[in-house]
Amino acid sequence: MQYCTECGGLLEKRQIDGYGRFFCPLCHKIYYQNPLPVVAAVITNENEQILLTKRAISPGKGEWALLAGFVEIDESPPQAILREVKEEIGVKGKLGKLIGVYEGKTRIYGPVIVIGYKVLVKEQNFSLSEEIEEIKFFSPGELPPLAFSSHEEILNDLWRIRPNPVPTVDVIVEREGGVVLIKRKNPPYGWALPGGFVEYRESLEEAARREIKEETNLQVKELRQFHTYSDPARDPRFHTITTVFIGKGEGEPRAADDAQELKIFKKNTLPSHMAFDHKQILEDYFNG
Ligand SMILES: [Zn+2]
Repeated sequence: MQYCTECGGLLEKRQIDGYGRFFCPLCHKIYYQNPLPVVAAVITNENEQILLTKRAISPGKGEWALLAGFVEIDESPPQAILREVKEEIGVKGKLGKLIGVYEGKTRIYGPVIVIGYKVLVKEQNFSLSEEIEEIKFFSPGELPPLAFSSHEEILNDLWRIRPNPVPTVDVIVEREGGVVLIKRKNPPYGWALPGGFVEYRESLEEAARREIKEETNLQVKELRQFHTYSDPARDPRFHTITTVFIGKGEGEPRAADDAQELKIFKKNTLPSHMAFDHKQILEDYFNG
């Protein structure tokens, strides 16, 4: 670099911020040098195998890597990764989770910042660009060495952010010789035990008391744990683990929040259908 791209002035090298930088003495533009932003995609098939590309270009020519490319000047990183997926393997992707941000070094382009995304693709009719020699799905245990250490880090972190079941609480609120059930305002619909998700920095007991107050306006006394239910299919939305409590409901019952109606049921008057596995829970309670 010799002349300023702004004004054509002859550039000088100066010490700025501890770096030797090109500087234009006429218009005072400083020429910073920064790592280049790269986006990389983790694409998996229905067997949780990882799609790798054998690169037909440098850097990493002939080696396996995640599908990756540079962010263009007018793109956001998400736009860049979806464009790369379309260009390199010919399918439309849907942006998934951000896995993480990594540093890397390439021989040709110098330092890069690699942004790793999960990208979801439905179609399997791939058509390869000239930048890719071959693609293949690999099982996690059989991955070949990758061209870039940042791509290995992305895959390590991918395993780390695999989802866990979500904790919830439900309460068998005893009252007038029966139990309080609510009719849900939101899906999954139906009669259910009052309860809900445990908030971050909340104990199970606090969550139970809060949910009961919110949904039934009742205070729970003599709260104690009953059982835990963890069947992955117990909630149709995603995997939850519920800790079920038993307590006595005091105060004036009133349906609110997630509850559109509230009623007291006895063992022989339970609704025939209930949301989640709450029918099972109440059978365990009444027969226990
Ligand atoms: Zn200039």
